[in-house]
Amino acid sequence: MTAQRRQLQIAVIGAGMSGLCMAAKLQDAGIENYTVFEQADDVGGTWRDNTYPGLTCDVPSRYYTYSFRPNPEWSRLLSPGPEIQAYFRRVAEDLGIRPHIRFGTEVRAARFVDGRWFIDTGSGEEESFDVLITATGVLRLPRYPDIPGLETFAGPMFHSARWDHSVSLPDKRIGLIGTGSTGVQITAELGGKVRALKVFQRTAQWIFPTPNLRYSPLTRAALRRWPKLNEVGYRGWGFYIRQLLGRATVQPCWQRRLVQTACRWNLRLSVRDAELRRKLTPNYQAMCKRQVLAGHFYPAVQRPGVEVITDAIEAVEPRGVVTADGTLHELDVLVLATGFDARAYVRPMQIIGENGLTLEEAWADGPTAYRSVAVPGFPNLFMLMGPHSPIGNQSLITIAEDQADYAIWWINQIRDGRITAAAPTEAATKDYNEQMKAAMPQTIWVTGCSSWYIGRDGLPELFPWTPERHRELLRNPEPAHFDVRSA
Ligand SMILES: Cc1cc2nc3c(=O)[nH]c(=O)nc-3n(C[C@H](O)[C@H](O)[C@H](O)COP(=O)(O)OP(=O)(O)OC[C@H]3O[C@@H](n4cnc5c(N)ncnc54)[C@H](O)[C@@H]3O)c2cc1C
Repeated sequence: MTAQRRQLQIAVIGAGMSGLCMAAKLQDAGIENYTVFEQADDVGGTWRDNTYPGLTCDVPSRYYTYSFRPNPEWSRLLSPGPEIQAYFRRVAEDLGIRPHIRFGTEVRAARFVDGRWFIDTGSGEEESFDVLITATGVLRLPRYPDIPGLETFAGPMFHSARWDHSVSLPDKRIGLIGTGSTGVQITAELGGKVRALKVFQRTAQWIFPTPNLRYSPLTRAALRRWPKLNEVGYRGWGFYIRQLLGRATVQPCWQRRLVQTACRWNLRLSVRDAELRRKLTPNYQAMCKRQVLAGHFYPAVQRPGVEVITDAIEAVEPRGVVTADGTLHELDVLVLATGFDARAYVRPMQIIGENGLTLEEAWADGPTAYRSVAVPGFPNLFMLMGPHSPIGNQSLITIAEDQADYAIWWINQIRDGRITAAAPTEAATKDYNEQMKAAMPQTIWVTGCSSWYIGRDGLPELFPWTPERHRELLRNPEPAHFDVRSA
C-alpha cells in the first residue's frame, strides 16, 4: 500500500506554534515534501512578535507544550515569553523543520485551479501544491484604538505587540491603554518600577488567582530524569484546565461558580482600599471576557506611582491623555495594549477556491467553517485556528494538534489514492454552525459583556462545547459531510 502512495506536495502558511505543529505532524506521517511559508524572519509567531515586559503564558506551560515534544526545563508554572519562543525555536531546529521554512516570504494569494493550490508570493512565479494548510494565527494583527489626536502624542508610542525596547522606562511616566491579559501582565511587571504608571481602564477584569511558582532546579532535574513524571504533569494540568475553565465557560456548573467565587474573593482579599476595589470590580460575570489568570496584578496596582483611571479617554494630545473629566494626564510614553483584530484569520491574504469563489465572499456574513478547519468551495484547504476554534482559556497547542491530526487524516486519504480532493458540503457546514448557535446560550460569553469574542452577528466566535468534544469531533472525520472527488 505504502509503495503506491502518491507523493504529495503540501504548503503550510505560517511558522508559528500551529505551523510548526503541522510540519511536525507531516514529518511524523512520513511526508517530507512540504514547504512552510513565513513572512517574518523567525519562527514563533505570537512569541516572536510579543516581547513586552511581563509576558508569560497564561495556561500552565507544562501543558502549553507539544504532546510530542515535552519540556522538563520550564522555569515557572507560567513561563516567560522568551522561554516559550526559545522552545519553539528548539522544536523547529531539533525536528529538522527549519530547512522547510521559507522565511521572509509572505503569501499574498492562494488560488485553487484544476485540483491544485497555486501560491502567489509576489515573486512573479507561482508554485503549486496538492494541499494547502493555513496556520496564520488569530491574535496577530495589532488593533489600534480610534482615539482623536492619538497620532499627535509627542513621546514614544507603541502597541504591546511591537514593543520599542530602545525606550528606557524606569524614569518615565507611562500611560497604558487596555486592561486585557496583556495590560494586566504589563501592569504587574512595571507597577512600582517606573516613575509613574497610569492605567487607563475602560473595563475592569476579573482575575483568577494564579501565583506564578518557580520550578526548582531539583524539580527540573527530576522531570528530566523521569519523563513519566513530566507526562503526569502535562496530563494533570491538562485535566485541570479542561475541567475548570473548559467546562465553566460552556455550561452552568459548579466549576463556573467556583471560578466566579475565587475571582470575587481574590479581589476582596487582595485590594483593601474600598475606592480602588470599586474601580477594579467588573460589572459582568467572570469568564464572560477572556478570563485573566494572574498572581501579581493586584499587588502591583497598589504600588506607589500606579494609578487606575476609569474616566473615559476623550483625546490624546502631544503632552498626554485627556479624560472625560477634562484632566490632562501628562505622559512620556504611551503603550497601546489594545489587542488584535481577532476576526482577520488568514487575511489580508486572498484565498480563491473553486469557480473563483473568494474567502471574502464565502465569509460575507462572517467567518464560518466546518469544525473550524474546512470551508465549502475550498477543496484540500485546512485551517488551523480557523473560525470557532476553542481559543478561550485553553492551551492552543492541544487545539492545533487536534486540527493538524484532522488534516493529516484527509491528506492520507489523498495519499492513498482513495480521493483526489475533498471539501465540506454547504449543508454539513450550515448544520454544524446551527448546532453551535443553538449551544451558545449556555455559554458564559453571552451573559452581557463586550469582548473580542463577539462576532458581527452578536454571537461569540468560539467553540461552545467542551475541549473533549472538540477532540472527539476532530478524531472522527465524517466523510459523508464532504464532497469528495476521486480520479
Ligand atoms: C500576548 C499573547 C499571549 C498569549 N498567551 C497564550 C497562552 O498563554 N496560552 C495559549 O494557549 N495561547 C496564548 N496566546 C495565543 C497564541 O496566539 C497561540 O497560543 C499561538 O501562539 C498561536 O500560534 P499560531 O501559529 O496559530 O499563530 P501565530 O503565532 O500568530 O503565527 C502565525 C504565523 O503566520 C505568519 N503568517 C501570517 N500570515 C502569513 C502570510 N500570508 N504569509 C506568510 N506568513 C504568514 C505570521 O508571521 C506568524 O509567524 C497568546 C497570544 C498573545 C497575543
